[in-house]
Amino acid sequence: MKGFVYRGPGVPAELTDVPTPEAGPGEVLVRIGANTVCGTDLRILRGEKSKGVNLGVVMGHEWAGHVEQVGDGVTGFEKGDLVSMPPSVSCGVCGACRRGHEHLCEDVHLVGYDIDGGLAEYMLIPRTAIARGQLLTASAHLEPAQLALAEPISCCLSGMDNYRVDVGDVVVIVGAGPIGLIHLQLATIAGARAVVVSDPSATRRASAEQLGATVTVDPTSDDLRTIVQGLTDGEGADVAVLCIGRPELVNDSLNLVRKRGRVSIFAGLAGEGWANIAANLIHYRELTVVGASNSSRQAFVRAVRLIESGAIDTKALITHTFALSKASEAIEFVASGEGIKVAVVPD
Ligand SMILES: [Zn+2]
Ligand SMILES: [Zn+2]
Repeated sequence: MKGFVYRGPGVPAELTDVPTPEAGPGEVLVRIGANTVCGTDLRILRGEKSKGVNLGVVMGHEWAGHVEQVGDGVTGFEKGDLVSMPPSVSCGVCGACRRGHEHLCEDVHLVGYDIDGGLAEYMLIPRTAIARGQLLTASAHLEPAQLALAEPISCCLSGMDNYRVDVGDVVVIVGAGPIGLIHLQLATIAGARAVVVSDPSATRRASAEQLGATVTVDPTSDDLRTIVQGLTDGEGADVAVLCIGRPELVNDSLNLVRKRGRVSIFAGLAGEGWANIAANLIHYRELTVVGASNSSRQAFVRAVRLIESGAIDTKALITHTFALSKASEAIEFVASGEGIKVAVVPD
């Protein structure tokens, strides 16, 4: 079969022939229906993220497909079931796992890092993932590309569990890429009275408006902070969610929220992620600053159910589709910053 294989940091990944896996005992083989490209894939290819990524791994961690083979001893799946899976396979016994934070597992194995991923024709689900109940079936009425978005949606849900949106909150989303547009929808579902979305791209602002943003702001021509103050009697927003990994925006985000407001550094920054901040903004204003990394199984289940119910508009997020034979072009297209979410489907 064809697989899009990682060749090292800064080296273009290549579509090449790899052995077609077979489902052994305890395993499931999935015929991939779609794999959506993630910003993390770009960071891996650029060499900004290399820890835990194996040379030769098939890339892609946002996938959905249909069960092709069910290995001996596996119950609950039938050929043809539409399935997906949270990409982190945790150990279950480390300190983080024991505390219930398995998405922060010390000994995690990740699809698209050290488990062959979804940018291929088939994907083998390891027995550890099956044993931990990670493979989930979803309603057959979904298109695979919609279900593939369970991964980024679950990451946003997990981040939102940390920053919290209360009914009536004013939420600012900095960056209207796919992740920002998911946070926008989640904030609306959670009962925000206004969601302000900032992005320099006019097309992305248009997407944010289509998906329910109260106000969109072009930060190159308007002052986001002034607009947020105007909406909040000069107090500042309840929550700011940083969805662009740019160091200078960290402090800007701290300046957007009210006293005792909450700021999520949702986006990862390159390298160690150093940013200059005025720490007294946190100190005197008693801000809560939270992070977000990966997603848990329970967040993934919630994401699948939100997609099935239509509560989250996934079709509006998938703006482009490429054949697997054009996987390199798909990656380049995502790097260009055009479109929202790009799906890669086997030819
Ligand atoms: Zn992702
Ligand atoms: Zn663990």
